[in-house]
Order: sequence, then C-alpha cells, then structure tokens
Amino acid sequence: MKAELLSITNYPEELIVKAGRTCYLSEKKDTPESIKLFIKSRIKEGHESILEHASASFRITGVSRALTHQLVRHRLASFSQQSQRYVKESTFDFVTPDSIKDHESKNIYWQYRNFMDQTQKFYNYLVDSGVKPEDARFVLPNAVCSEIVVTANFREWKRIGHLRLDSHAQWEFRDLMKQIMYILLIYAPNVFAEFKEEVNEEAI
Ligand SMILES: Cc1cc2nc3c(=O)[nH]c(=O)nc-3n(C[C@H](O)[C@H](O)[C@H](O)COP(=O)(O)OP(=O)(O)OC[C@H]3O[C@@H](n4cnc5c(N)ncnc54)[C@H](O)[C@@H]3O)c2cc1C
Repeated sequence: MKAELLSITNYPEELIVKAGRTCYLSEKKDTPESIKLFIKSRIKEGHESILEHASASFRITGVSRALTHQLVRHRLASFSQQSQRYVKESTFDFVTPDSIKDHESKNIYWQYRNFMDQTQKFYNYLVDSGVKPEDARFVLPNAVCSEIVVTANFREWKRIGHLRLDSHAQWEFRDLMKQIMYILLIYAPNVFAEFKEEVNEEAI
C-alpha cells in the first residue's frame, strides 16, 4: 500500500488564514505563532469552511477494491480509479488480511492463495474465450488491488480522518489514512493537529 502525494496547495495554512481574516477584515503580517492561534481558534468555534481553500491529491496504490469502495463513499472528494472495463486484470495483485496470513491453521492461507490463483485462471479463461473484461470482472474478488487518485479539500480530509482513523474503521483504511495524515501533517500541522498522536513515522 502506498499513498503518494501528487499535489497540494502552496503555503496552505497561510492561504487559509488569509481567507479567514477576510471575514473580519483583520489582515496583518502573520507569524507561525499567529497562524497557529488563528487556525486553532477557527476550528474550535466550528468556522471550518475556511479549510476548504486548501486541497491535496494522492495517488493510492496496492489497496483492495474493498478499500476503494469505502473511499469513494466520501462524496465531497473527487476520484479517478483504474477501470476494470478497460484494463484487463490478466495478472492481478491482491491484498491478504493478516487474519488470514497469520491464521493458526496454515491451510487457511494456502486455500486463500489457491482461491486467488483459480480465480485468476478462470478470469483469463473467460477473457480468452471472448468474454469482455467488463463482464469477466464479475468473478473478481474484493481483494483485487486497485489504483485510485483522490483529491479533497482540507475540511474533507479532516472528516475522512475522523471517520477512518477511528478504531471502528476497517484496518486497511486505517493504515492508508495514517500514511495520508502523516503527509498532511507535514504541510499543515495546525489544521490536522488533532491527528498527531494517531500518526507516527511507522506510518510510512
Ligand atoms: C465505521 C464505519 C462503518 C460504516 N458502515 C457502513 C455500512 O455498513 N453500510 C454503508 O452503506 N455505509 C457504511 N459506512 C459509510 C458511511 O455511512 C458514510 O457513507 C461514509 O463514511 C461517508 O461519510 P460522510 O457521508 O460523512 O462523508 P462525505 O460523503 O464525504 O460527506 C462529508 C460531509 O458532507 C455532508 N454531506 C455530504 N453529502 C450530504 C448530503 N447528501 N446531505 C447532507 N449532508 C451531506 C455531511 O455533513 C458529511 O458528513 C460506514 C462508515 C464507517 C466509518
């Protein structure tokens, strides 16, 4: 799994403060300390629309379709995902959950790999028999890896962070969000400050 930063707003926190100060016509020469205080205060009072002026795009690879299906539920973000209609899955990679990889019965892991192997063979057989990839994909499991580019503004990244770094979120999505948040914290430590404890260098 990898989250690669493709693009992020230049000087995002300066921009957010500049936009926010417009509301009060209180523009001034900011310092790192005044930026921190301004952003902290606006977030505390719920004046979060100012965070929408900054955004970030990530290319996400090596994750399952199970994860991307959850990701695209976040409606305020924008997505471009590898198509299973136009890209043949002739040699698909797949994600294996630890609960299967480390299962006390080694047989479970072996059967899982065997299932993926058989599925790959059957998929290729369908395509080689003239079935279109858009129909052959019906046999593909949720575990198949996908690639997706996602763009969201900082308010939405905070919302996704809240939901997907929570202990109730799925482990794969949590791992992905740790990587994304680690990067966002470098560029906007005050906006994403609340996630600092959740994320550390092990994340990437
Ligand atoms: C632990 C967990 C378990 C889940 N389980 C399931 C499940 O079993 N089945 C399932 O279907 N989904 C499930 N979901 C998905 C969940 O219901 C949401 O669809 C998903 O988390 C996106 O959240 P959101 O709607 O807040 O975010 P976004 O779509 O990114 O929206 C961000 C915010 O914008 C506002 N907003 C966006 N669109 C609207 C709108 N149309 N009307 C009003 N306000 C809007 C809301 O304030 C929203 O919080 C689960 C999510 C989590 C985190």
